[in-house]
Amino acid sequence: MSNFTPTPFTLPVYDLMHRAGEMRERSLDIVVPEGFGNAVIGVQTGSELHLEARLESLHDGILVTGQVDGDAEGECVRCLIDVSIPVEVEFAELFAYSFDEAFDYTVSDDHVDLEPLVRDAVVLSLPFQPVCQEDCLGLCPQCGVRLLDNPGHAHEEPIDPRWAALAGLEGLTEANTHDVDGSASSSATEEKR
Ligand SMILES: [Zn+2]
Ligand SMILES: [Zn+2]
Repeated sequence: MSNFTPTPFTLPVYDLMHRAGEMRERSLDIVVPEGFGNAVIGVQTGSELHLEARLESLHDGILVTGQVDGDAEGECVRCLIDVSIPVEVEFAELFAYSFDEAFDYTVSDDHVDLEPLVRDAVVLSLPFQPVCQEDCLGLCPQCGVRLLDNPGHAHEEPIDPRWAALAGLEGLTEANTHDVDGSASSSATEEKR
């Protein structure tokens, strides 16, 4: 009659249902079965999340409030090294006993599934432009080295940015190739980002 399958994010609430005023506190250590995040940073599959949740029985359903802690991993959008940032977000949702369009979640098979709300709360908290440090200088637009690792980095003579991509190729001696066209300069702009 039911296809309920427990996951690391599901909690039984049968001992709270229809007992308004009852409350439980639960703590969960979750090994994330499937990572989530935005295009540049996220909580990775197999990483750990710690959840502290408070479940309160109300007349309409179970109110779940709590906090999730973990780490999100991605790369610095300026210099591309790996970054790990702490995630610490709070959530609060009512799981209604019966379908109600006022609420996004329902108690299902005597359980609440915290995965979608934890996922949403975490994803909303993630930066779209993660950086390794606030003053990251990025990469040298001419040769691509990470500028923070190379203080005082400079080139003897500035290379025309249109030719920077060519300079990255082996053996460019004299930059007298005036017939640079779109194909070469498109990779140059990619490197500069
Ligand atoms: Zn960086
Ligand atoms: Zn350089």
